[in-house]
Amino acid sequence: MDIERYLRDHIRTVPDWPEPGIQFRDITPLLQDPKVFRVLIDSFVHRYMDPALRPTVVAGLDARGFIIGSVLAYELALGFVPIRKKGKLPFTTVEETYELEYGSATVELHTDAVKPGDRVLLIDDLIATGGTMMAGKKLLEKLGATVTEGAAIVDLPELGGSARLKAAGLPLFTLLDFA
Ligand code: 5GP
Repeated sequence: MDIERYLRDHIRTVPDWPEPGIQFRDITPLLQDPKVFRVLIDSFVHRYMDPALRPTVVAGLDARGFIIGSVLAYELALGFVPIRKKGKLPFTTVEETYELEYGSATVELHTDAVKPGDRVLLIDDLIATGGTMMAGKKLLEKLGATVTEGAAIVDLPELGGSARLKAAGLPLFTLLDFA
């Protein structure tokens, strides 16, 4: 089976959402179909079962990173930690602010979510400018963990995020890209 093609065929492009000019890549059809959802998750499970790549923790980025990251962590028999938008986590946190096209955003992580020596897989659904994943990496590193790889379903290489993340020393694994 051509897995990349199969997954790509289940991503819906919504024009002009959330703003005019944006082509939003909607992954909900991937989750909705049980066979496709299994192929999607298994694509990540297969990679991270490899002892050389196996993390000690899976960290997911708010909010679609929670959906795939938590199932992946469960399948790998690992713990899952959420990196959330500011104001959602109840315990003490570290935070990181990053620039958006208009304004800025802040993400947070519980201070006991990871510990020095942890090898963390950081996962989200999509990499655009790379700002969200870079902020997640910085948060995990503030707590002394190492982010061994960033993973996503989709890369939008023309926005430069994946190149920027790789240049910052983060290996990346994505299943497909949209030009
Ligand atoms: P970045 O920080 O790389 O610019 O943007 C990536 C973040 O925004 C991810 O958390 C992702 O969920 C969200 N995002 C931006 N554009 C899209 C899109 O077209 N489709 C989806 N599914 N998420 C997007």
